[in-house]
Amino acid sequence: MSNDDAIQLRSVSRRYGTGDSTVTALDEVSLTFPRGTFTAVMGPSGSGKSTLLQCAAGLDRPTSGSVRVGGTDLTALSERRLTLLRRERIGFVFQAFNLLPSLTAAQNVALPLRLAGRRPSRARVREVLARVGLGDRARHRPTELSGGQQQRVALARALITRPEVLFGDEPTGALDSRTGREVLTLLRGMVDGEGQTVVMVTHDPVAAAHADHVIFLVDGRVEGRLTGADADTIATRMTHLETVPC
Ligand code: ADP
Repeated sequence: MSNDDAIQLRSVSRRYGTGDSTVTALDEVSLTFPRGTFTAVMGPSGSGKSTLLQCAAGLDRPTSGSVRVGGTDLTALSERRLTLLRRERIGFVFQAFNLLPSLTAAQNVALPLRLAGRRPSRARVREVLARVGLGDRARHRPTELSGGQQQRVALARALITRPEVLFGDEPTGALDSRTGREVLTLLRGMVDGEGQTVVMVTHDPVAAAHADHVIFLVDGRVEGRLTGADADTIATRMTHLETVPC
């Protein structure tokens, strides 16, 4: 593994069930996500995208193979250490914003630090909210914010711990295209401006075109990749994958 890799998966397989009903969600996947890059993961429904993200982020354990975050082999960690690593070194945004409705934007953003037993500095919370363009919304509750603003709060919450990697599972899936683009532009800016590493599952070629690399999964295997591709090229490749005969 090179020091330039934020995440490395080596021969990662994840099987569910046993005997005849075994499903191989990931089949010997080897991949690296270099630091300071933005990668989109695409593929037909059931191709293993969520499983890949969950294994890479330490939310799920592979059946075999290894996952490294920085220099740390996740497969060797106890549950407790894995939880700590996720809390301190990994950020998440999901399709659903998952904000706590009774808390203000600032309190939602500060929550990961509180859960880790750290006292969040007001300046840091303000800085992260400003980074996502919500410096003037700190005291608003989620119901007082638009969908795009709520997702930006979720982004700020994911970034408060300065994670080594930010994972997104369809982070723009619940947003209209203009608002989705704003969130993608923010992610792109974090990669370009701050060297953040971003890995995002999406089914949307326009969203994937914001990434540096696109990885295509079919039946739990990496079937191809594109670098620097536009939305049309990505869409054409997707159509191709979905018509590959079984
Ligand atoms: P995608 O995100 O690309 O839709 P998933 O990673 O969710 O794909 O699923 C990959 C395969 O693994 C599918 O066949 C799915 O049915 C199966 N799978 C996912 N999670 C489970 C589970 N908890 N139990 C059994 N099978 C699962």
